[in-house]
Amino acid sequence: MRTIKYVLASAFALSLMVSCGGEKKKEEKKEEKVKLGVRKEVKKTTEDVNDGSIVISGNDLMKFDKSEIKVKAGQKVKVTLRHKGKLDINVMGHNFVVLKKGVNMAAFAGKAAASKDNQYIPKDTKDVIAHTGLIGAGQTTTVEFVAPEAGTYDFLCSFPGHYAMMKGKLIVE
Ligand code: ZN
Repeated sequence: MRTIKYVLASAFALSLMVSCGGEKKKEEKKEEKVKLGVRKEVKKTTEDVNDGSIVISGNDLMKFDKSEIKVKAGQKVKVTLRHKGKLDINVMGHNFVVLKKGVNMAAFAGKAAASKDNQYIPKDTKDVIAHTGLIGAGQTTTVEFVAPEAGTYDFLCSFPGHYAMMKGKLIVE
């Protein structure tokens, strides 16, 4: 009888230990997730826009400083694009172009690259929601538009070859 009790007790203790271990692991995982979340928060380049004013900059490394911009549907949006580099407009020109939904970015960029005489914006602008002018080092340009219906839209710089690096998402909520 005593032996049985002992066996039962140790089985109970064992199960406690096992479940304890399990809990601990779960908690560690949770902590890891939280840490990852924090790291993501820091890296995130989303600009949460309340008044519709967006400032985005481009540099000589063919990069925008934002990869996500959030606005509200129907909101008046004003995008200010700054060129923070030192290179000439003919070498490192930048603009900010928002495409309509469903437009293929590579196809659009191809048409844009062939439109040098129009600041790399295809004369047929049916694919475009809004775009700024083309700027070079130290320059600033702006464009105002009304945010379209909710959804995710692509934005890019349409200077030849830049869209591979200079692109992002305009998220309309
Ligand atoms: Zn560019």
